[in-house]
Amino acid sequence: MICLKNIVKTYNKGKSNAYEALHGISMEIKDGEMTAVIGTSGAGKSTLLHILACIDGYDSGEYTIDGEEVGRISEKQMAQVRNEKIGMVMQDFALVDGFTALDNVLIPLDFAGGKQRLRKKERREKALKMLDMVGMKEFAGKPVNNLSGGQKQRVAIARAIANDPSIILADEPTGALDSATTEEIMKVFRDLNEQGRTIVIVTHDPAVAEQCGRVIRIEDGRIVE
Ligand code: ADP
Ligand code: ADP
Repeated sequence: MICLKNIVKTYNKGKSNAYEALHGISMEIKDGEMTAVIGTSGAGKSTLLHILACIDGYDSGEYTIDGEEVGRISEKQMAQVRNEKIGMVMQDFALVDGFTALDNVLIPLDFAGGKQRLRKKERREKALKMLDMVGMKEFAGKPVNNLSGGQKQRVAIARAIANDPSIILADEPTGALDSATTEEIMKVFRDLNEQGRTIVIVTHDPAVAEQCGRVIRIEDGRIVE
């Protein structure tokens, strides 16, 4: 369970151009929920997602995952939470061009430490399994720059789930895709959700929000719906 209590976030805190982007966000997301976060540009969606992803901190409030405080901890601890619990999917895919699909999915597996760490052969098998889950196994050896947008996003999703995170956070994952490809990518997210993963998708697209079990609307740094 993800739990935010009264989260306030100010950019440029203490400076003359300080800007309070989130004014006290409270919400709960239960395990296995598929949630869309919608709102106009500048509403605070990305800010919220970055906090959920443990990429950014906040001024005050409380953020817990499964009852454990994850917001106000050291950078190193935040990186650990990110690696163990969270998979990220970005609008622009954020793949390493020139790497094959397989090598992109291997990145988080190669970086994993501690009890998550697998042997080399197992890492390869795991990466192939992830590519299979998103329908991209046959493209494992292809450099990602030769793939279509939808195929790239599938590879990015395979990479996001490689370390078995319980939470997948996606920032406009279909923003660069046409509507038919958007449908295909949403099918992948729905399948992952049916397997029990918690998914949060920031989106402008009503067609994407429609496919989520729950919709949270943000306006001017507040949840309004
Ligand atoms: P959204 O994702 O809904 O478009 P953002 O979370 O990106 O909104 O931005 C919310 C508000 O915070 C906007 O007014 C934006 O200009 C401001 N903002 C976002 N990032 C920064 C930053 N790094 N520094 C200063 N202001 C920022
Ligand atoms: P998105 O499309 O996800 O809403 P934006 O285009 O709003 O992203 O922002 C892109 C990047 O610029 C983000 O990292 C955000 O933090 C930063 N940013 C947005 N608004 C501002 C701002 N007013 N001042 C400084 N950085 C900003």
